[in-house]
This record gives sequence, C-alpha cells and structure tokens, in this order.
Amino acid sequence: MSSFTIPKTQVAAVVESIGAPIEIKHDQPVKQASELAPGECLVKMEYTGVCHTDLHAKKGDWPAKPNNPLIGGHEGVGIVVAIGEHSERPPVKVGDRVGIKWLANSCLDCEFCRKGFEQNCVKAQLSGYTVDGTFSQYVVSFVHHVTKIPESIDSASAASILCAGVTVYRALKNSNTHIGDFIVLPGAGGGLGHLAVQYAVNMGLRVIAIDTGAEKQKLCLSLGAEKWIDFKQSTDIVKDIKDATGGFGAHAALVTASASAAYEQAVDYLRPTGTLVAVGLPNAPLGANIFWTVFKSINIVGSYVGNRQDAIEAIEIAAAGKVKVHYELKPLNALKDVYEGMEAGKVVGRVVLKCE
Ligand code: NAD
Ligand code: ZN
Repeated sequence: MSSFTIPKTQVAAVVESIGAPIEIKHDQPVKQASELAPGECLVKMEYTGVCHTDLHAKKGDWPAKPNNPLIGGHEGVGIVVAIGEHSERPPVKVGDRVGIKWLANSCLDCEFCRKGFEQNCVKAQLSGYTVDGTFSQYVVSFVHHVTKIPESIDSASAASILCAGVTVYRALKNSNTHIGDFIVLPGAGGGLGHLAVQYAVNMGLRVIAIDTGAEKQKLCLSLGAEKWIDFKQSTDIVKDIKDATGGFGAHAALVTASASAAYEQAVDYLRPTGTLVAVGLPNAPLGANIFWTVFKSINIVGSYVGNRQDAIEAIEIAAAGKVKVHYELKPLNALKDVYEGMEAGKVVGRVVLKCE
C-alpha cells in the first residue's frame, strides 16, 4: 500500500562487476508498492553516508564477495513510502522517517538473533553488499530492521550514525572499559574514528587519537581527545602511548583504520589485562604476538556493526546532541571522487551524499 507516487525508474550508483568503475545510471527500476513482499518496505532516500566498507565492496577485496551488479551504501535516511501487503506487525508506517543500516535483515529466530547478535545471523542480508543499498533514490528494505529516526536530528546529520555510529558505539560496549580508562583510537580522524572519539568521551574515557594530518588532528582534539599521535610522524608509537598513560599503556585500543599496520603494535601499547577491539577490516592476519598476548592477559575482540537496539541507542545519543557527525555534503554523482579521496586518506570525518 502507498499514498505516495512512486516512479518506475530512478538514479543510482551502480558497480557492474567487482573492481568496475562507479556508473551513475538514470534508468534503474524501482520496485512498486504492489511488488513488495511481506516484511519489505520501500524507502525514498534523502541522504546517505559513504563508508570505507563501500570502497571495500566496490573493490571486492574481502574474502566474502558482494553481489554484482551492486548498488552500494548502507548508512542512509529516508521516508517509508510503501510497505509490503501482509507484513506481520510492521513496527513502522508509511510516512515514517527511518534509517537503513548495514544489516538490512535477519531471521530474528536463530540462536544468534535471539542472543542479540543479529549481525551474525546466517540468513543476514547486507545493505549495499548482498542487497541493493542506499546510493540510490529508492531502496527496498525490511520493516523489522529499519531504525526510526528521532525528530530532533536532521536526516543528513543522522545518516552516518546508522553504520559508523552504531559500529563504534557497540565496539565501545565490547571494550571492557570504565570511566577514567585510557583508550587508543587508531583511525580517529576517519568516519568511524571521529564518532568513536565522541562516544568514548561521553563514556568518560580518556582518548588517545592516532591518525595523520593537521586537519584530522584539529578535529580529534576539538572533539575531546586528550592526546594526538600522527602515525606518519611518530618514531615510537608504543613509547608515546606509554608516556601518555603513566607508563603502563592503555586499557583498550579500538582500531578503526582500514590498514593492517594500525593493528601491529596494539598488544605492545596495551597495559596488562587490556582489550584490543578489532573493527577496521583489512583482509589480513592480525599479527599479534602470542607470547605477549598471553603474558599480558590481553583480550582480543572482533566487533561487527550492531543490532537493532544498538542502532536505536546510538541514534538517540546523537539526537540528544551528544555526538555529531562531522561531514561534507556532496551530490550522489560525486561518489567516484569520494572513493578516490578516501583511498588517499583525505576524507576528514565523513562524506554524506544527497540522494534526491
Ligand atoms: P575512513 O577511511 O573514513 O577512516 C580510516 C582512517 O584510518 C583514516 O582517517 C586513515 O587516515 C586512518 N589510518 C590509516 N592507516 C592508519 C594507521 N596505520 N594508523 C592510524 N590510522 C590510520 O574509514 P571508515 O569508514 O571509518 O572505516 C574504517 C574501517 O572500518 C574500514 O575497513 C571499514 O570497512 C571498517 N568497518 C567495520 C565495521 C565493523 O562492523 N567492524 C563497520 C563499518 C566499517
Ligand atoms: Zn559502514
């Protein structure tokens, strides 16, 4: 059912095959209201963030491959314009403003879903990876997984909370930290990282930001990081961190860099009993020294996006004004340039695209 006029075609950014260039196509079909399956909804997109995961998807550099032709994008906000007939108890209605996250859908009935690990559901569908994503004007999503957006936050500001925000928020929950603890954030000037700085500061953590360049330095310090380390300039990152933490090292490291080099020294600069939270996703071995991992009683945790509840909590914190996405707004057809900037490490915070 729909009270909205839904066009037959739309503009979308398409990757035909792995590694192929981005093509802005003007004739992509739009699924009509009558064609939606029960549980599906059609969302008219307003804004979408660009995550480094979208670049991994375009390049196909992960062991699990995307479905091509692919419309990427997985942190978007738009309006529900239709809901599939016979949807069972849809928690959203036509006209609601919702967010689309990486986890488009999961079965909600398996062991992992029941335990709150919806992202690990074997039937998980992934926006912009296994199902078409938010780099388009209309997206088919799923009524039980879209996230309602509170009124007090505008759509462009909310978009990147749906992936970058929820991911670091959940990762911080997995970091075994307490108020006053030191946390190291390699990748702090990027999309996930600059939000991690803010959620961590909100938790009362003392942030040591690692990234490179004057602009990222300024951003991280303005967001509340206590110490900045430029990984291209430091000659001894381990010493820098030990010096900043009274000699013992940090209680936790949450790595959001997409380069494996950012993981290499984490076990060395963590204090005994510290926790390394792996979030950034290079397709590479972890490289942690086993002796020191054991001898220092280090915890190593993988943290993968978040569930529906994490998404609601992360967006509510942002809607309350406690976390703000630092973004540059661009049109959808700028995606190719955005990827080039991201590859070169030039994106400070996030880029958000206008879908309309
Ligand atoms: P981004 O490109 O915006 O940020 C990455 C940052 O890492 C950049 O600022 C870069 O300068 C910095 N960096 C590179 N090498 C570094 C090093 N050696 N030390 C410190 N910093 C370094 O990317 P993003 O969108 O924030 O995504 C980051 C990674 O997280 C990607 O691999 C992405 O796929 C992954 N990701 C994981 C999850 C998850 O659920 N675990 C969710 C979303 C994204
Ligand atoms: Zn993402």
